[in-house]
Amino acid sequence: MLRSIGLPELIVLGLVVWFLVKGSNFVRGCTLGVFLGAFIGFAMRPSVPIIGQLPFGVVLTRGANLTGVDTVFRPTAEQSFNYLLIGAIIGAVALGALWKSLGENKSVPSIPSSPGSPVALPVNRFCTKCGSPFPPDVQFCGICGTRR
Ligand SMILES: [Zn+2]
Repeated sequence: MLRSIGLPELIVLGLVVWFLVKGSNFVRGCTLGVFLGAFIGFAMRPSVPIIGQLPFGVVLTRGANLTGVDTVFRPTAEQSFNYLLIGAIIGAVALGALWKSLGENKSVPSIPSSPGSPVALPVNRFCTKCGSPFPPDVQFCGICGTRR
């Protein structure tokens, strides 16, 4: 059942990783949606009498590798493939739109940073007693005389 991974699989895998790392939120959602939708579509595929749902390899090749009496399953294999394909398309559009809206909501609230804020400065830049600012090389407060 399991095939060895060849060059086409590696290219697809590379593209998926590239989309997830470099892609926008919409592209990331689409990529995940393709797999999720295809998985759901595949799970919902029609079944045939006696043997039930067709295996993944048969569905993916649309029954092209069926021989002899098994060729009667070819229309079901094509139908199952369409389920997978439609699921992938719906998943891509739905999750792509969802991811895009999530990303937009997340990027909207950006708190402006205040560079002059006293929180960002070290504690001993200000006098502990009167709060007046200390110059860097001074040991005593110029206002109240408190030691640094
Ligand atoms: Zn002081």
